[in-house]
Amino acid sequence: MNSLYFLRGPLLAGRAVGFGFINASKFTANNPSFPLSRLPLRFRRALSSISASDEEAFARAAALNADSETPTIFDKIIAKEIPSTIVYEDEKVLAFRDISPQAPVHVLVIPKLRDGLTQLGKADQRHGEILGHLLYAAKIVAEKEGIIDGFRVVINSGPSACQSVYHLHLHVLGGRQMKWPAG
Ligand code: 5GP
Repeated sequence: MNSLYFLRGPLLAGRAVGFGFINASKFTANNPSFPLSRLPLRFRRALSSISASDEEAFARAAALNADSETPTIFDKIIAKEIPSTIVYEDEKVLAFRDISPQAPVHVLVIPKLRDGLTQLGKADQRHGEILGHLLYAAKIVAEKEGIIDGFRVVINSGPSACQSVYHLHLHVLGGRQMKWPAG
């Protein structure tokens, strides 16, 4: 992925001296050796305002490693090697706050064991129990976060849905009025 560059143009406008480009293959959120949390604050801020087309390019880059056994940033979060704000945890799932929240409440719920579930589109019948457990955990999170009266659960599966981390995860979103249809 050496030829693919992601953070450029407007993101670096006015600050580009000595920093022409950043290599997306090193930056991807799937790469635990280069997590978002290691980026300077100004880049993390820039990421929260990336355009839709950048988001899509990022998702396509992330998908290139989708089916490898490569650990993702979420493995480091599960191992507590990098910090996260944990909202709920049991023996099978972990729920923690998204680093780039899209709503007042934005929590990710993930299986602790990926077991081939890089994305929902790879689910097999044997995954039925953990998939049900993840949904139930999403409901527990909604209760704990005080949004049980109205919340949204989203799973992005694959590049066309802008999935960026290839370890199945549910987004639990709430705390504001959600719009429909979703984008
Ligand atoms: P996806 O785009 O794959 O559906 O969602 C991945 C989510 O993971 C994004 O909402 C992104 O903000 C979040 N994320 C990526 N890296 C980190 C991280 O290091 N910590 C936390 N808490 N969230 C992350």
